[in-house]
Parts: sequence; C-alpha cells; structure tokens
Amino acid sequence: MSMFEDIPVDVGVIYEGERIRRNDMYVELGGPDIKEKFELARVKKPEEVEDGKINIIGPDLKDMEEGKSYPFGILIEVAGPQLEEELEGVIERRIHEYCNFIEGFMHLNQRYDIWLRLSKKSFQKGLNSFQFIGKVLHRLFKSELPIIEKMQVTFITDPAKVKELYSEALKIYEARDARARGLKDEEVDKFYGCILCQSFAPTHVCVITPQRYSNCGAISWFDGRAAASIDPKGPVFTIEKGELLDPVKGEYSGVNEAVKKKSLGEITRVWLYTAFGYPHTSCGCFEGVAFYIPEVDGFGIVHRGYRDLAVNGLAFSTLADSTAGGRQVDGFHGISIEYMRSPKFLQADGGWSRVVWLPKEVKERVKSFIPAELVDKIATEENAKTIDELKAFLKERNHPVVERWKEEVTVAIEEAAPAEAKEGGSSAVPVVTAAALPITAGGFKIILKDAKIYAKKVVIRSLKSEKAEKG
Ligand code: SF4
Repeated sequence: MSMFEDIPVDVGVIYEGERIRRNDMYVELGGPDIKEKFELARVKKPEEVEDGKINIIGPDLKDMEEGKSYPFGILIEVAGPQLEEELEGVIERRIHEYCNFIEGFMHLNQRYDIWLRLSKKSFQKGLNSFQFIGKVLHRLFKSELPIIEKMQVTFITDPAKVKELYSEALKIYEARDARARGLKDEEVDKFYGCILCQSFAPTHVCVITPQRYSNCGAISWFDGRAAASIDPKGPVFTIEKGELLDPVKGEYSGVNEAVKKKSLGEITRVWLYTAFGYPHTSCGCFEGVAFYIPEVDGFGIVHRGYRDLAVNGLAFSTLADSTAGGRQVDGFHGISIEYMRSPKFLQADGGWSRVVWLPKEVKERVKSFIPAELVDKIATEENAKTIDELKAFLKERNHPVVERWKEEVTVAIEEAAPAEAKEGGSSAVPVVTAAALPITAGGFKIILKDAKIYAKKVVIRSLKSEKAEKG
C-alpha cells in the first residue's frame, strides 16, 4: 500500500538505493548527456511562497518522448520564521533522499550534476506528472523538517529556462562555498558526519570539517552544523573532535570513534588528508576521483563530467567503480571540487605538488587555489593524453614529482609465493599488507581481512639504475 493514497506508486525508505537501468527507464532528467541541469533550494519571504504550489515550466513527464534525456531543474522555495539562508544547502541535499523514496524514481548526485530516471513500470502505474513528485517532496520536507512552514516546488524542463536558471544556480553555489572558506579545522571543536549515502554505500561516513568539504560537494561544515541543529536525529550528526593524533594526516580520536560507530565497526580509522593508509571512505556521489599514477608517483584527478578517458586510459566510471562503495582504497580517493580549494587538500601526500594531471575544465575552476609556481607544471588533456606524454610534460616543466623519481624504488614480485608460505618463513617476505584488501572478480567482491601477501623473492631496484640499464 502506498504511503500516500493519491500517489500512483509506493513511497518509502525501502526504495532508497534502487537503481534504474537504461533499458528499464522511461525518461532521464539531467545526467551525463545533458550539460545544463541543477537543483536549488532558496529561503524566501513568506509572501513570496505559496504553500503546496507545484509549477511545471516546459513539458511534463507525460509529454516527454520515451527513452530520451532532458534538461532539468528543480527549484524548492521555502519560508518560515526560523529559516535562514545558511540552511539552503541542507534543504537542497534532502531532494536526493526524498526523490529516492519514490518507487521507480532514481536520483543521483547533486547541484549541477543531478541525474534522475523514471522507470517504465512506474510511468505505466500512472506516475506521469511532476505534480505527483512535487506533492511527495512537499509532504516529506514539511513532515521531516518542521521549521519549513511554506514550500513551493518548480520543475523546469524548458531548455531555455533551464539554461537561464542554471547559470544563476552556479553563482549561488559559488557564493555559498565562498562563505564557508577561511575557517580552519583548528578553530572549531566539533566536526560533522553524514550517512545519507549509506543507502548506496553501507559503510560510508562523510566527515565534514571546515577544511574538508563533503565528498558530494553539497555540504560544508556550516551546512553540517545547521543540519545537525535542525534535525538532530537526521543523517547529519555532530562529531566531537577528540584528540588530534596526527596533524599532517588529519587523524582525530573523536573521528575514529564516530566513524567506527556509524559504519558498524567496518571502518576503524580515518586519515582525513591522505589517499593512502586509512583514507576517508568514498561513497558513490563524489564529484571527482583523485587516482594515484604509479608510473609518475603523482595523482591524477578526474571529475564526473569528464567524457574522455583520463590520462591513465580509464574512464571516470571505471575509476569511480574502483573507488566507491564505502571502502578505503589506497590511491583511489573520492573528493569534491571544493576540497581541492582547501589548504589541507591531500596535505600528507604533498598536496598540489603531487598532482600531475586534471581536466582543463576543473583546472580553470580551481586555478586560483593552486600554488602559482605549480599551475603551469600540472598537465591537462591538452598537454598529455597518455602516461608517456605525461612523463615527458612533467620532465620538461620540472614538476616537483620528477625529483621523487630519482629517489623512487620499484618493488617487483618475481615469483608468486607458494600457498603454504608462512609468516616469518625464511624465503617469504610480506610485500602487501592491508586491513581489508578488496578483490573484484567475476561479479563477486572478495574482501581479505588483515591480508598479508607473501612473495618468495622481492627485488628492489631504483628507477634511475633501471633506466640506465635500459639506456
Ligand atoms: S556524499 Fe557525504 S555529505 Fe554528501 S550526501 Fe553523501 S554522505 Fe552526505
């Protein structure tokens, strides 16, 4: 039975995490094939909001052609005496959660990256108008966040109107992010956590600090604080910092405790400012991936909107699969664009001096936050499309990672260890150890806990001497 009798499909938390494949979709709204898409929440004066009003600008669901993708915008306008502009980001992020409560309606990502699909099945059941979606959003928002007194929803599918509002939305996101810049982790005694993405990645916990924006890029420390205060039982919660265990890697006793509790014991340590060891987990809706490139001992970054292959020959989707799922994967790190503007961005790994490649579009967006002496040393797709081209570029520009190549050693496993190799045995040396080592094969994911991989022989050779030998 449906939660709401006047809605043709079921609505409930059980539909969160439901995926709709291309073959099963009736239409797609936003998504990778559409440049202009957005969702936006605005706090308004009471006289500017008509409670329960649902506007549709452009074709409604029933007027759309089956199988097609459409430009799309959702504008939520709210009013209430306790509502402040500071809450807009938090209200906006709930669009994701509440849309996903609707049977056969999938919502991914956030802000200018939204990707929604309506299933054929739900369309056939009668979910053929945004009026229904608007009604559900209106009811869920008002029941879950009672400080919203009035709310109206506008769905925009008219391409010209989407385009116009999209550029306005970008300015609003930037102003919101800029407000949150400047505050330091050291200046606060509380961080915030978010588990909204656990429906997709059950062990994922976002830790939001003043200098580490959430992975989705939609929740700042200020947003976290606002969300935890208006809805203390909601998905965003307070984390007492506790003791600072490592200022460079960014390890706090309070963060470790909170993450352990919220991941039900799966994740026990988090190092906020590195992609190695115990990196922050990655859910699935991160804006970009920082991926380690062993050949140059540096990081590449690729964002969700990048359609070509990254410099290591892999597409965003492949890199995202290696990163996502609430795991801690060495060298694969889900990040937001705003985190790239933080002075603590990957600080334990060398920060920007370790970044070697990123798409031009992202570079332009964060350029003023890259140390001036590095800007021209970091390649984009215009400078390098392959690892060989990248190596040549980095060498020519004397990127700081080139220094590392001289010190670097390579570890080569010559012969795999026999299965019966024992720890401490005369010939077996552990070459890889990990608290949890995931292996994906044939559609199964196997996690080796406290894994140690042994090799009969380990050869350590400097890159320099190897090159000399070849030369
Ligand atoms: S990415 Fe993090 S902050 Fe954003 S919704 Fe998911 S869990 Fe919350």
